[in-house]
Amino acid sequence: LERTFSIIKPDATRRNLTGAINATIEKAGLRIVAQKRILLTRAQAETFYAVHSERPFFGELVDFMISEPIVVQVLEGENAVAKYREVMGATNPANAAEGTIRKEFALSVGENSAHGSDSLDNAKIEIAQFFAGNEIV
Ligand code: ATP
Ligand code: MG
Repeated sequence: LERTFSIIKPDATRRNLTGAINATIEKAGLRIVAQKRILLTRAQAETFYAVHSERPFFGELVDFMISEPIVVQVLEGENAVAKYREVMGATNPANAAEGTIRKEFALSVGENSAHGSDSLDNAKIEIAQFFAGNEIV
């Protein structure tokens, strides 16, 4: 079984959508094997999104990600990385397929409710940024 890293973003935690998003995750056959609610520091958010540091939306993205607590998760299942990307839908909710998290819940391309790792290598790196091995069961 594969593992991926997930974030329920501030726009979703603010609107009390953690349970609804978790239901979508579980209905898709992914198991939540670790989960905690945290408030990112600015440094953590900048490190997490370092790949986007030169993009015009970087400042806005970091401000958004630290604006409210988030829920960080490890999801486990067959092809978990690709499957969760599918369950989330396109980055821009206007392009997201019916039934996806972003179609159902996202507010905009920035405030798009969910993050999921885009590769198995990144999943391992991102999981290690937020969870100790013994927190994943
Ligand atoms: P994530 O990495 O959060 O899972 P993603 O892989 O679908 O999302 P990326 O291209 O990696 O999309 O962008 C990371 C995040 O940056 C997006 O999820 C979104 O919150 C924000 N973002 C991306 N493009 C824009 C944009 N044009 N304007 C504002 N915010 C954006
Ligand atoms: Mg991404």
